[in-house]
Amino acid sequence: MRNNRVLISGASVAGPALAFWLRRHGFSPTVVERAPELRDGGYAVDFRGASLQVLDRMGLLGAVEAAATRMGEVTYVDSDDRPLVVTPPTYQSGELEVLRGDLARILYDATKDDVEYVFGDSITGISEHGEGVSVTFAHAEPREFDLVIGADGLHSNVRSLVFGDESRFRHDLGYYVSIGTVPNHLGLDRTGRFYNEPNRTVGVYSAKDNTEAKALFWFGADRLDYDHRDVEQQRRIVEEAFRGTGWETSALLEAMREAPDFYFDSASQIKLDSYSRGRVALVGDAAYCAAPLSGMGTSLAIVGAYVLAGELAAADGDHTTAFGAYRDELRGFVDACQKLAVGNGKWFVPPTRAWLKFRNLTYRLLPYLPWRKLIEELPLKAGNAITLKPYAGVPA
Ligand SMILES: Cc1cc2nc3c(=O)[nH]c(=O)nc-3n(C[C@H](O)[C@H](O)[C@H](O)COP(=O)(O)OP(=O)(O)OC[C@H]3O[C@@H](n4cnc5c(N)ncnc54)[C@H](O)[C@@H]3O)c2cc1C
Repeated sequence: MRNNRVLISGASVAGPALAFWLRRHGFSPTVVERAPELRDGGYAVDFRGASLQVLDRMGLLGAVEAAATRMGEVTYVDSDDRPLVVTPPTYQSGELEVLRGDLARILYDATKDDVEYVFGDSITGISEHGEGVSVTFAHAEPREFDLVIGADGLHSNVRSLVFGDESRFRHDLGYYVSIGTVPNHLGLDRTGRFYNEPNRTVGVYSAKDNTEAKALFWFGADRLDYDHRDVEQQRRIVEEAFRGTGWETSALLEAMREAPDFYFDSASQIKLDSYSRGRVALVGDAAYCAAPLSGMGTSLAIVGAYVLAGELAAADGDHTTAFGAYRDELRGFVDACQKLAVGNGKWFVPPTRAWLKFRNLTYRLLPYLPWRKLIEELPLKAGNAITLKPYAGVPA
């Protein structure tokens, strides 16, 4: 196989999934992850459509199902915690839902014995030459690879180094999200409770067999200037945005101060004409982040990894042919998934009291409306907007 030595940046979902398939097709992947160890924890992510077939072909569907959150309904409440609307599990949780950290662990465990993982390091330089790519690292000695793949998320380091500044490719949807692990102080039993004020959504859902909970905060805002590495500054932004918000907000903000996995970011999409430059390509959020509002990011990462590795194998390692085919195969699927997020914002973070009332009324009437199935069918349609090729050596 040509171009056998593949360096992957990022060990979350797309990176280990790609390593899995590359290994299966006879390549030798190395994964470098900035975090000192596998990042456990994190929020719930869900699978829809074709991604479930990929998990099945990996032989990992059973393991992911065993780790499923099995979340029940979500109740939207008023400031006195009185239920306003109850939404069924499929609205938030897709066909199969799992904590991102649990998924990363399953993918890592399935690959760690025959894939080289390097934790606590990061690529600092990528220089392509006729025969391959010279890579420098923050800590390790420079190394030679045949191909480099960025699976390092929305703020991809590989993309910045090779494609250019993030601002050229990032499209903010006008929302920010913060999420973290907190005590399950409401005693929730596989359910969630969400509260809205105009332009703000606060929620909490139980996780890990109800032993803990995830608090989430969404708010609408134009582009905010902040340092991606400065967690204290991000905590202050969230606290400021939710100051004076009713319901359990103060208690949840207080609990977020202790959250070991505090997360804050904009809801953004990445749009690129091509997912590759020469011997370097991108996969997952780095290439086509759909934003959490789409509920399709994990599906995209899993399917993208399958297609990228499959096309490399089908082209016998010829990266020019493979990267072109990868883009062509995925383009329609990416568009369908990204489109979902754009419409979802107002439903999840209603901008005004009028919208809030309209949203709640619609959800309440939904069981009686002729188009009630639409809310479930639209994401499913996007999740199935690709027909998976049966690459050689892969069980159909
Ligand atoms: C709040 C929230 C809720 C979400 N909900 C859903 C959902 O319900 N359904 C769904 O399908 N998706 C959801 N998503 C999206 C989903 O989490 C992502 O689409 C998915 O994790 C993408 O995987 P990835 O591997 O491409 O990127 P990421 O999961 O972002 O992983 C990138 C990895 O790269 C590493 N990295 C970063 N920089 C470097 C560097 N310089 N060097 C080495 N490594 C680096 C990071 O540490 C990380 O491990 C949600 C996302 C968020 C933020």
